[in-house]
Amino acid sequence: MTGIRTEGDTVYVPPKTMQKLVTTIFATAGCDDHEADSIGTRLTGANQRGHDSHGVIRTPRYVEWLADGKVFANRKIEMISDSDNIAIIDGNYGFGQTVGEQTVDVGIEKAKASGVGITALRNAGHLGRIGDWAERAAEHNIVSIHMVNVRGSLLVAPFGGIDRRGSTSPFCAGIPLPGETPIILDFATSLVAEGKALVALRGGKPLPEGALVSDTGELTNDPSPLYGELEEGRYPDPNRGPGALTGFGMHKGSGLNFLMEMMAGCLAGSGTSGSMNEENRRKFCNGMFSMYFSVERFHSDDWFAREVRGYVDFVKSSRPTEAGGAVLVPGEKEQLTMAERNKNGLPLSLETWNDILGATTKVGMTEAQTNAVLG
Ligand code: NAD
Repeated sequence: MTGIRTEGDTVYVPPKTMQKLVTTIFATAGCDDHEADSIGTRLTGANQRGHDSHGVIRTPRYVEWLADGKVFANRKIEMISDSDNIAIIDGNYGFGQTVGEQTVDVGIEKAKASGVGITALRNAGHLGRIGDWAERAAEHNIVSIHMVNVRGSLLVAPFGGIDRRGSTSPFCAGIPLPGETPIILDFATSLVAEGKALVALRGGKPLPEGALVSDTGELTNDPSPLYGELEEGRYPDPNRGPGALTGFGMHKGSGLNFLMEMMAGCLAGSGTSGSMNEENRRKFCNGMFSMYFSVERFHSDDWFAREVRGYVDFVKSSRPTEAGGAVLVPGEKEQLTMAERNKNGLPLSLETWNDILGATTKVGMTEAQTNAVLG
Protein backbone atom coordinates (compact mmCIF):
# COMPACT_ATOMS: atom_id res chain seq x y z
CA MET A 1 0.00 0.00 0.00
CA THR A 2 1.80 3.06 -1.32
CA GLY A 3 2.88 5.56 1.29
CA ILE A 4 0.91 3.98 4.16
CA ARG A 5 3.08 3.10 7.14
CA THR A 6 2.44 1.74 10.63
CA GLU A 7 4.37 2.76 13.73
CA GLY A 8 3.20 0.90 16.84
CA ASP A 9 -0.57 1.40 17.10
CA THR A 10 -0.60 4.33 14.69
CA VAL A 11 -1.17 4.17 10.93
CA TYR A 12 0.02 7.11 8.78
CA VAL A 13 -1.97 7.60 5.58
CA PRO A 14 -1.10 10.13 2.83
CA PRO A 15 -3.96 12.68 2.56
CA LYS A 16 -4.45 11.97 -1.17
CA THR A 17 -4.90 8.24 -0.54
CA MET A 18 -7.31 8.93 2.30
CA GLN A 19 -9.33 11.35 0.21
CA LYS A 20 -9.57 8.79 -2.60
CA LEU A 21 -10.59 5.99 -0.22
CA VAL A 22 -13.37 7.97 1.51
CA THR A 23 -14.61 9.35 -1.83
CA THR A 24 -14.80 5.81 -3.26
CA ILE A 25 -16.66 4.54 -0.19
CA PHE A 26 -19.39 7.17 -0.61
CA ALA A 27 -19.53 6.84 -4.40
CA THR A 28 -20.06 3.08 -3.90
CA ALA A 29 -22.71 3.83 -1.27
CA GLY A 30 -24.78 5.81 -3.82
CA CYS A 31 -23.53 9.42 -3.63
CA ASP A 32 -23.04 11.18 -6.97
CA ASP A 33 -19.48 12.13 -7.95
CA HIS A 34 -19.63 15.69 -6.58
CA GLU A 35 -21.10 14.62 -3.24
CA ALA A 36 -18.69 11.69 -2.80
CA ASP A 37 -15.73 13.97 -3.60
CA SER A 38 -17.05 16.64 -1.27
CA ILE A 39 -17.38 14.18 1.64
CA GLY A 40 -13.95 12.66 0.89
CA THR A 41 -12.26 16.05 0.63
CA ARG A 42 -13.92 17.60 3.69
CA LEU A 43 -13.46 14.64 6.05
CA THR A 44 -9.82 14.30 4.96
CA GLY A 45 -9.42 18.09 5.23
CA ALA A 46 -10.52 17.99 8.87
CA ASN A 47 -7.76 15.43 9.62
CA GLN A 48 -5.21 17.50 7.68
CA ARG A 49 -6.07 20.45 9.95
CA GLY A 50 -5.82 18.35 13.12
CA HIS A 51 -9.57 18.00 13.76
CA ASP A 52 -9.57 14.20 13.72
CA SER A 53 -12.89 14.33 15.59
CA HIS A 54 -14.62 15.70 12.46
CA GLY A 55 -12.60 13.80 9.94
CA VAL A 56 -12.41 10.33 8.44
CA ILE A 57 -13.28 8.69 11.76
CA ARG A 58 -16.86 9.68 10.85
CA THR A 59 -16.87 7.46 7.73
CA PRO A 60 -18.34 4.31 9.36
CA ARG A 61 -20.96 6.38 11.19
CA TYR A 62 -22.04 8.21 8.00
CA VAL A 63 -22.27 4.84 6.20
CA GLU A 64 -24.45 3.51 9.01
CA TRP A 65 -26.67 6.64 8.94
CA LEU A 66 -27.14 6.30 5.17
CA ALA A 67 -28.16 2.65 5.58
CA ASP A 68 -30.50 3.52 8.48
CA GLY A 69 -32.21 6.37 6.55
CA LYS A 70 -30.91 9.03 8.94
CA VAL A 71 -29.25 10.89 6.06
CA PHE A 72 -29.94 10.81 2.30
CA ALA A 73 -27.63 10.93 -0.72
CA ASN A 74 -27.81 13.58 -3.46
CA ARG A 75 -30.31 15.95 -1.84
CA LYS A 76 -30.87 19.56 -2.90
CA ILE A 77 -31.73 22.35 -0.50
CA GLU A 78 -35.31 23.61 -0.52
CA MET A 79 -36.07 27.33 -0.15
CA ILE A 80 -38.76 27.84 2.46
CA SER A 81 -38.56 31.59 1.89
CA ASP A 82 -36.14 33.83 0.04
CA SER A 83 -35.72 37.61 0.07
CA ASP A 84 -32.82 39.97 -0.77
CA ASN A 85 -31.02 39.34 2.50
CA ILE A 86 -32.56 36.30 4.16
CA ALA A 87 -32.96 32.72 2.96
CA ILE A 88 -34.77 30.18 5.13
CA ILE A 89 -33.60 26.79 3.91
CA ASP A 90 -34.55 23.15 4.49
CA GLY A 91 -31.65 20.71 4.08
CA ASN A 92 -34.07 17.76 3.85
CA TYR A 93 -31.61 15.52 5.73
CA GLY A 94 -29.13 15.60 2.86
CA PHE A 95 -25.43 15.11 3.60
CA GLY A 96 -24.16 18.24 5.38
CA GLN A 97 -21.22 18.39 2.96
CA THR A 98 -23.79 18.93 0.17
CA VAL A 99 -26.59 20.99 1.72
CA GLY A 100 -24.06 23.02 3.74
CA GLU A 101 -22.18 23.92 0.56
CA GLN A 102 -25.39 24.85 -1.29
CA THR A 103 -26.56 27.00 1.64
CA VAL A 104 -23.26 28.85 2.03
CA ASP A 105 -23.27 29.59 -1.69
CA VAL A 106 -26.70 31.23 -1.27
CA GLY A 107 -25.31 33.38 1.57
CA ILE A 108 -22.25 34.34 -0.51
CA GLU A 109 -24.47 35.43 -3.42
CA LYS A 110 -26.65 37.56 -1.13
CA ALA A 111 -23.64 39.26 0.46
CA LYS A 112 -22.13 39.93 -2.98
CA ALA A 113 -25.43 41.39 -4.23
CA SER A 114 -26.43 43.55 -1.28
CA GLY A 115 -23.56 43.53 1.23
CA VAL A 116 -25.24 41.38 3.88
CA GLY A 117 -26.75 37.91 3.70
CA ILE A 118 -28.35 35.63 6.26
CA THR A 119 -29.05 31.94 5.80
CA ALA A 120 -31.07 29.88 8.25
CA LEU A 121 -30.53 26.20 7.53
CA ARG A 122 -32.62 23.52 9.21
CA ASN A 123 -32.67 19.71 8.90
CA ALA A 124 -29.12 19.35 7.56
CA GLY A 125 -27.09 16.16 7.83
CA HIS A 126 -23.88 16.49 9.84
CA LEU A 127 -22.14 19.68 8.66
CA GLY A 128 -18.72 18.43 9.77
CA ARG A 129 -16.03 20.98 10.50
CA ILE A 130 -17.85 24.32 10.42
CA GLY A 131 -14.60 26.13 9.54
CA ASP A 132 -15.05 24.74 6.00
CA TRP A 133 -18.02 27.06 5.52
CA ALA A 134 -16.26 30.18 6.83
CA GLU A 135 -13.28 29.37 4.57
CA ARG A 136 -15.61 29.10 1.56
CA ALA A 137 -17.10 32.56 2.30
CA ALA A 138 -13.64 34.07 2.96
CA GLU A 139 -12.54 33.05 -0.55
CA HIS A 140 -14.98 35.74 -1.73
CA ASN A 141 -13.69 38.40 0.69
CA ILE A 142 -16.71 37.81 2.93
CA VAL A 143 -16.68 37.84 6.73
CA SER A 144 -19.01 35.16 8.07
CA ILE A 145 -20.39 34.00 11.40
CA HIS A 146 -21.98 30.58 11.88
CA MET A 147 -23.99 29.40 14.88
CA VAL A 148 -24.80 25.70 14.90
CA ASN A 149 -26.77 23.28 17.05
CA VAL A 150 -27.35 19.56 16.85
CA ARG A 151 -31.01 18.64 17.23
CA GLY A 152 -31.54 15.14 18.56
CA SER A 153 -28.08 15.02 20.10
CA LEU A 154 -28.22 15.45 23.85
CA LEU A 155 -24.60 15.24 24.96
CA VAL A 156 -23.75 18.25 27.12
CA ALA A 157 -24.67 19.01 30.72
CA PRO A 158 -25.37 22.69 31.51
CA PHE A 159 -23.05 24.54 33.93
CA GLY A 160 -23.78 23.20 37.42
CA GLY A 161 -25.84 20.26 36.10
CA ILE A 162 -25.35 16.52 35.58
CA ASP A 163 -28.10 15.63 33.12
CA ARG A 164 -27.69 16.23 29.38
CA ARG A 165 -29.56 19.27 28.17
CA GLY A 166 -27.63 20.48 25.12
CA SER A 167 -25.55 19.55 22.07
CA THR A 168 -21.90 20.35 21.37
CA SER A 169 -23.16 23.37 19.34
CA PRO A 170 -20.17 24.88 17.52
CA PHE A 171 -19.53 28.58 16.94
CA CYS A 172 -17.46 29.71 13.98
CA ALA A 173 -16.34 32.99 12.40
CA GLY A 174 -14.10 33.65 9.40
CA ILE A 175 -12.19 36.82 8.56
CA PRO A 176 -10.70 37.01 5.05
CA LEU A 177 -7.17 38.22 4.47
CA PRO A 178 -6.67 38.68 0.72
CA GLY A 179 -3.76 36.61 -0.60
CA GLU A 180 -3.37 34.78 2.71
CA THR A 181 -5.20 31.99 4.55
CA PRO A 182 -8.22 33.44 6.39
CA ILE A 183 -8.54 33.76 10.14
CA ILE A 184 -10.89 30.99 11.29
CA LEU A 185 -12.25 30.79 14.81
CA ASP A 186 -14.07 27.47 15.05
CA PHE A 187 -14.89 25.49 18.17
CA ALA A 188 -17.50 23.38 19.90
CA THR A 189 -19.06 25.07 22.93
CA SER A 190 -18.53 21.86 24.91
CA LEU A 191 -15.03 21.52 26.41
CA VAL A 192 -14.33 18.92 23.72
CA ALA A 193 -16.27 18.00 20.58
CA GLU A 194 -17.99 14.59 20.79
CA GLY A 195 -15.69 13.32 18.06
CA LYS A 196 -12.69 13.99 20.32
CA ALA A 197 -14.26 11.67 22.91
CA LEU A 198 -14.72 9.12 20.09
CA VAL A 199 -11.05 9.52 19.09
CA ALA A 200 -10.01 8.94 22.74
CA LEU A 201 -12.36 5.92 23.03
CA ARG A 202 -10.76 4.48 19.86
CA GLY A 203 -7.26 4.72 21.36
CA GLY A 204 -6.37 8.22 20.11
CA LYS A 205 -5.42 11.43 21.93
CA PRO A 206 -6.58 11.46 25.59
CA LEU A 207 -9.12 14.07 26.72
CA PRO A 208 -8.40 16.94 29.12
CA GLU A 209 -9.44 16.43 32.75
CA GLY A 210 -13.07 17.43 33.42
CA ALA A 211 -14.21 17.00 29.79
CA LEU A 212 -16.98 14.68 31.05
CA VAL A 213 -19.23 14.37 34.05
CA SER A 214 -20.27 10.91 35.26
CA ASP A 215 -23.90 10.18 36.13
CA THR A 216 -22.97 10.60 39.78
CA GLY A 217 -21.46 14.05 39.18
CA GLU A 218 -17.70 13.32 39.12
CA LEU A 219 -15.60 15.21 36.59
CA THR A 220 -13.40 12.86 34.52
CA ASN A 221 -11.45 12.50 31.27
CA ASP A 222 -12.66 8.91 30.69
CA PRO A 223 -14.83 8.95 27.51
CA SER A 224 -16.74 5.74 28.33
CA PRO A 225 -19.55 7.41 30.40
CA LEU A 226 -20.64 9.02 27.11
CA TYR A 227 -21.02 5.73 25.22
CA GLY A 228 -22.02 3.18 27.89
CA GLU A 229 -21.82 -0.52 26.95
CA LEU A 230 -20.49 -0.98 23.42
CA GLU A 231 -22.68 -3.12 21.17
CA GLU A 232 -21.02 -5.82 19.05
CA GLY A 233 -20.96 -4.90 15.34
CA ARG A 234 -22.32 -1.36 15.90
CA TYR A 235 -20.32 1.84 15.96
CA PRO A 236 -20.04 3.53 19.42
CA ASP A 237 -23.18 5.63 20.01
CA PRO A 238 -22.79 8.70 22.26
CA ASN A 239 -26.53 8.66 22.96
CA ARG A 240 -26.27 5.49 25.02
CA GLY A 241 -24.04 6.45 27.94
CA PRO A 242 -25.14 7.55 31.42
CA GLY A 243 -22.71 10.52 31.63
CA ALA A 244 -22.33 13.81 29.72
CA LEU A 245 -19.81 16.14 28.15
CA THR A 246 -19.20 19.42 29.99
CA GLY A 247 -19.33 22.95 28.56
CA PHE A 248 -16.12 24.99 28.08
CA GLY A 249 -15.35 28.12 30.09
CA MET A 250 -17.72 27.43 32.98
CA HIS A 251 -20.89 29.61 32.97
CA LYS A 252 -19.66 31.71 30.00
CA GLY A 253 -19.17 28.78 27.60
CA SER A 254 -22.39 27.26 28.89
CA GLY A 255 -24.14 30.55 28.04
CA LEU A 256 -22.73 30.49 24.52
CA ASN A 257 -23.88 26.86 24.21
CA PHE A 258 -27.38 28.02 25.19
CA LEU A 259 -27.23 30.85 22.61
CA MET A 260 -26.46 28.38 19.78
CA GLU A 261 -29.72 26.57 20.63
CA MET A 262 -31.54 29.90 20.47
CA MET A 263 -30.09 30.94 17.10
CA ALA A 264 -29.78 27.64 15.20
CA GLY A 265 -32.48 25.71 17.02
CA CYS A 266 -35.15 28.37 17.62
CA LEU A 267 -34.54 31.26 15.17
CA ALA A 268 -33.34 29.16 12.20
CA GLY A 269 -36.15 26.74 12.97
CA SER A 270 -34.23 23.48 13.26
CA GLY A 271 -35.49 22.79 16.79
CA THR A 272 -33.39 22.61 19.94
CA SER A 273 -31.39 19.55 20.89
CA GLY A 274 -34.06 18.44 23.33
CA SER A 275 -37.35 19.40 24.86
CA MET A 276 -38.93 18.62 28.20
CA ASN A 277 -42.26 18.02 26.46
CA GLU A 278 -41.15 15.25 24.14
CA GLU A 279 -41.10 11.59 25.01
CA ASN A 280 -39.13 10.55 21.94
CA ARG A 281 -35.71 11.82 20.97
CA ARG A 282 -35.86 14.24 18.05
CA LYS A 283 -34.39 13.13 14.70
CA PHE A 284 -30.70 14.03 14.38
CA CYS A 285 -29.76 17.06 12.29
CA ASN A 286 -27.59 20.16 12.31
CA GLY A 287 -29.19 23.61 12.28
CA MET A 288 -27.03 26.54 11.20
CA PHE A 289 -27.74 30.27 11.44
CA SER A 290 -25.17 32.15 9.32
CA MET A 291 -24.43 35.80 8.58
CA TYR A 292 -22.28 36.99 5.68
CA PHE A 293 -20.78 40.48 5.25
CA SER A 294 -19.05 41.59 2.06
CA VAL A 295 -15.89 43.47 3.09
CA GLU A 296 -16.06 45.59 -0.07
CA ARG A 297 -19.37 47.11 1.11
CA PHE A 298 -17.71 48.30 4.32
CA HIS A 299 -14.40 49.51 2.89
CA SER A 300 -13.76 50.70 -0.66
CA ASP A 301 -9.96 50.37 -0.39
CA ASP A 302 -7.58 47.90 1.33
CA TRP A 303 -7.89 49.53 4.79
CA PHE A 304 -9.64 46.47 6.32
CA ALA A 305 -6.97 44.03 5.11
CA ARG A 306 -4.15 46.29 6.37
CA GLU A 307 -5.85 46.80 9.75
CA VAL A 308 -6.46 43.04 10.19
CA ARG A 309 -2.89 42.19 9.15
CA GLY A 310 -1.50 44.83 11.53
CA TYR A 311 -3.55 43.49 14.43
CA VAL A 312 -2.52 39.89 13.72
CA ASP A 313 1.14 40.97 13.87
CA PHE A 314 0.49 42.94 17.07
CA VAL A 315 -1.18 39.95 18.78
CA LYS A 316 1.55 37.55 17.68
CA SER A 317 4.24 39.87 19.06
CA SER A 318 3.03 39.21 22.63
CA ARG A 319 5.79 37.45 24.59
CA PRO A 320 5.03 33.70 24.84
CA THR A 321 4.46 32.24 28.32
CA GLU A 322 6.64 29.25 27.50
CA ALA A 323 10.23 29.41 26.30
CA GLY A 324 10.26 28.57 22.59
CA GLY A 325 6.45 28.93 22.44
CA ALA A 326 4.47 31.13 20.08
CA VAL A 327 1.23 33.11 20.22
CA LEU A 328 -1.14 31.88 17.51
CA VAL A 329 -4.17 33.58 16.02
CA PRO A 330 -7.38 31.61 15.26
CA GLY A 331 -6.87 29.20 12.38
CA GLU A 332 -3.06 29.24 12.57
CA LYS A 333 -2.75 25.98 14.49
CA GLU A 334 -4.75 24.23 11.75
CA GLN A 335 -2.42 25.63 9.05
CA LEU A 336 0.70 24.46 10.94
CA THR A 337 -0.82 21.01 11.47
CA MET A 338 -1.78 20.77 7.80
CA ALA A 339 1.78 21.53 6.66
CA GLU A 340 3.15 18.83 8.96
CA ARG A 341 0.51 16.20 8.09
CA ASN A 342 0.75 16.79 4.35
CA LYS A 343 4.41 15.85 4.75
CA ASN A 344 4.18 12.98 7.22
CA GLY A 345 0.69 11.56 6.61
CA LEU A 346 -2.50 11.56 8.65
CA PRO A 347 -2.04 9.68 11.93
CA LEU A 348 -4.90 7.32 12.78
CA SER A 349 -5.22 4.75 15.53
CA LEU A 350 -5.15 1.20 14.18
CA GLU A 351 -8.72 0.80 15.44
CA THR A 352 -9.95 3.82 13.45
CA TRP A 353 -8.14 2.63 10.31
CA ASN A 354 -9.72 -0.83 10.67
CA ASP A 355 -13.16 0.78 11.20
CA ILE A 356 -12.72 2.67 7.89
CA LEU A 357 -11.61 -0.49 6.09
CA GLY A 358 -14.70 -2.18 7.62
CA ALA A 359 -16.84 0.54 6.00
CA THR A 360 -15.49 -0.44 2.55
CA THR A 361 -16.96 -3.92 3.04
CA LYS A 362 -20.23 -2.53 4.43
CA VAL A 363 -20.85 -0.47 1.26
CA GLY A 364 -19.98 -3.47 -0.94
CA MET A 365 -16.43 -2.70 -2.13
CA THR A 366 -14.42 -5.83 -2.90
CA GLU A 367 -10.92 -6.35 -1.49
CA ALA A 368 -9.54 -5.84 -5.01
CA GLN A 369 -11.34 -2.48 -5.32
CA THR A 370 -10.03 -1.32 -1.96
CA ASN A 371 -6.49 -2.42 -2.81
CA ALA A 372 -6.70 -0.56 -6.14
CA VAL A 373 -7.53 2.64 -4.26
CA LEU A 374 -4.78 2.11 -1.69
CA GLY A 375 -2.26 1.49 -4.50
P1 NAD B 1 -10.61 23.23 19.38
O1 NAD B 1 -10.85 23.10 20.83
O2 NAD B 1 -9.43 22.53 18.79
O3 NAD B 1 -10.52 24.79 19.04
C1 NAD B 1 -10.26 25.18 17.73
C2 NAD B 1 -10.15 26.69 17.65
O4 NAD B 1 -9.17 27.18 18.57
C3 NAD B 1 -9.65 27.08 16.26
O5 NAD B 1 -10.17 28.33 15.90
C4 NAD B 1 -8.14 27.14 16.46
O6 NAD B 1 -7.47 27.89 15.47
C5 NAD B 1 -8.06 27.74 17.83
N1 NAD B 1 -6.82 27.39 18.52
C6 NAD B 1 -6.38 26.13 18.78
N2 NAD B 1 -5.20 26.18 19.43
C7 NAD B 1 -4.89 27.49 19.57
C8 NAD B 1 -3.80 28.21 20.17
N3 NAD B 1 -2.77 27.55 20.73
N4 NAD B 1 -3.82 29.55 20.14
C9 NAD B 1 -4.84 30.22 19.57
N5 NAD B 1 -5.92 29.60 18.99
C10 NAD B 1 -5.93 28.26 19.00
O7 NAD B 1 -11.90 22.77 18.52
P2 NAD B 1 -13.10 21.81 18.99
O8 NAD B 1 -13.96 22.49 19.97
O9 NAD B 1 -12.54 20.50 19.34
O10 NAD B 1 -13.91 21.66 17.63
C11 NAD B 1 -13.39 20.84 16.59
C12 NAD B 1 -14.25 20.90 15.37
O11 NAD B 1 -15.49 20.29 15.62
C13 NAD B 1 -14.60 22.29 14.85
O12 NAD B 1 -14.21 22.33 13.50
C14 NAD B 1 -16.12 22.38 14.97
O13 NAD B 1 -16.74 23.09 13.92
C15 NAD B 1 -16.49 20.94 14.88
N6 NAD B 1 -17.82 20.64 15.47
C16 NAD B 1 -18.84 20.33 14.63
C17 NAD B 1 -20.08 19.98 15.15
C18 NAD B 1 -21.21 19.64 14.24
O14 NAD B 1 -22.28 19.32 14.74
N7 NAD B 1 -21.08 19.71 12.95
C19 NAD B 1 -20.27 19.94 16.53
C20 NAD B 1 -19.20 20.26 17.36
C21 NAD B 1 -17.96 20.60 16.82
